[in-house]
Amino acid sequence: MTATDSAPTVRDAVASHRFAMRIGGEAVALGRRQLVSVDPTTERQLAEFPEATPADVDHAVQAAGAAASEWGRQPWTSRAAALHELATAIDGNAEELALLDTLDGGMPIRTARKDVADSARALRYFAGLGGGIEGRSLPWSGEGPQLRTMREPYGIVGKIVPFNHPLKFAVVKVAAPLIAGNSVILKPSEFTSLSALRLGELAAGCLPAGVLNVLAGRGEVGAAMVAHPGIPRLAFTGSVATGQAVLRAAAENIKHVTVELGGKNPMIVFGDVDPRTAAQAAVANMDLRRTPGQACWSTSRVFVHASIRKPFLDALVEAVAEVRVGDPTDPDVDMGPLAYEGHHRRVTELVAAGRAEGATLLCGGDRPAHLPTGYFLQPTVFTDVEHGMRIATQEIFGPVISVLTWRDTEEVLRQANDTTYGLTASVWSADAAQADEAARRLEAGMVWVNSAATRPLGMPFGGYKRSGLGKEGSFEDVVSYTREKSIISTALPAVQRHD
Ligand code: NAD
Repeated sequence: MTATDSAPTVRDAVASHRFAMRIGGEAVALGRRQLVSVDPTTERQLAEFPEATPADVDHAVQAAGAAASEWGRQPWTSRAAALHELATAIDGNAEELALLDTLDGGMPIRTARKDVADSARALRYFAGLGGGIEGRSLPWSGEGPQLRTMREPYGIVGKIVPFNHPLKFAVVKVAAPLIAGNSVILKPSEFTSLSALRLGELAAGCLPAGVLNVLAGRGEVGAAMVAHPGIPRLAFTGSVATGQAVLRAAAENIKHVTVELGGKNPMIVFGDVDPRTAAQAAVANMDLRRTPGQACWSTSRVFVHASIRKPFLDALVEAVAEVRVGDPTDPDVDMGPLAYEGHHRRVTELVAAGRAEGATLLCGGDRPAHLPTGYFLQPTVFTDVEHGMRIATQEIFGPVISVLTWRDTEEVLRQANDTTYGLTASVWSADAAQADEAARRLEAGMVWVNSAATRPLGMPFGGYKRSGLGKEGSFEDVVSYTREKSIISTALPAVQRHD
């Protein structure tokens, strides 16, 4: 049975499923305000799920705190075994989890299946890193105290994630704090909560109660987590504006915060690259075949050298036309709808701004004619884009590519860096020295050279400038969920006791 065949039945099953939050191992749903998940393909209600109250946030902090000391004291190998068990549970429920992300957020089923497999793989990867957390012994001279350091978990970690890779972010982002010995309180996006709530159910069978708590709700719930004095360590992934609000609020309690934020990422194509190769790369770098450009790393500003502009644009229009847009439950579909109505409105407004500001719409810009319902938008390419236009400066987070033309290397590097963002960048050139020089000069946390939209396991990810603070996805990520304690210890001679 294909995903398309099974989708109607699964839609019914999802609609009748009682989605619950998970606090201290218990399912929590009753008596809470119910939020609605809307299927972006049908624009119909898919399911209901509860929204956390301030008391639920408090309760989750207590439950996480109660579980943390035992979890943190366990040998890391026991924590690793529990994470492996969770990875097995994810694999065992892979099709259901993938369909949840497809129906709830419009992610093409092929991508959703890959996200599920990636999630389980990342859990296993992080599980193996627990043994690397070490203290140090410091040198000292002559008679004196022993100097050493040790690393301890924070206890409770809050994780707030965005809407675009619902299950993958929920899983991958809790893995590092869990293996480091912390309990976690996770809050998914209100627009794509279902797979994270299902993850909470699966985790209840694999992790001790209270080690992974899942709250649902809108920004207020995230804000309550940020303000809560009982959560000392926070990691937020989302937009710059919310990230700034998180940092401001976290300052009140001097929390250690990681923020992974947006990007307006440049791709620079030199004149010595085959235009077809560059065009295929521009499509891949936008993530059009995985999400409709709803990827923080999408290189949505393409700077193409004037000498290959015409053949590049021809090839880009052809490459974009090959992206199959449609019902995301169909395994042959590359690109589904945008995740929710408000986001679709925002993206189409930016497309209108591109037209109004004088960019040339080369293709797309509208709803595909064969899809009258759903939050769909055709893959869209603008050319004659000027450096200061909104479509060249604002993150669109949709299937919109802005092409700019350049002649002078210094000038293109200046324009590429002339942004408050600094998440990713991509350089294409057959001249290795030239590409390397550009990669070094680009102000971005990750640069692809003649490669596109790939992030091998263990590669640190995180932005420069307003794109973020801190790195995730690597061993340093795990260490960042521990605090370093310095111990200065002197031995006392034993004295005779007189009691
Ligand atoms: P968003 O900032 O609107 O929301 C992110 C999360 O924050 C949601 O769970 C939301 O409920 C919560 N939230 C909202 N207000 C809050 C507040 N005041 N305090 C605490 N939490 C609050 O982002 P989004 O629209 O869900 O996601 C898209 C953005 O995320 C894009 O800018 C994208 O580039 C970015 N993103 C970055 C990365 C990365 O790794 N750098 C990865 C994915 C997405």
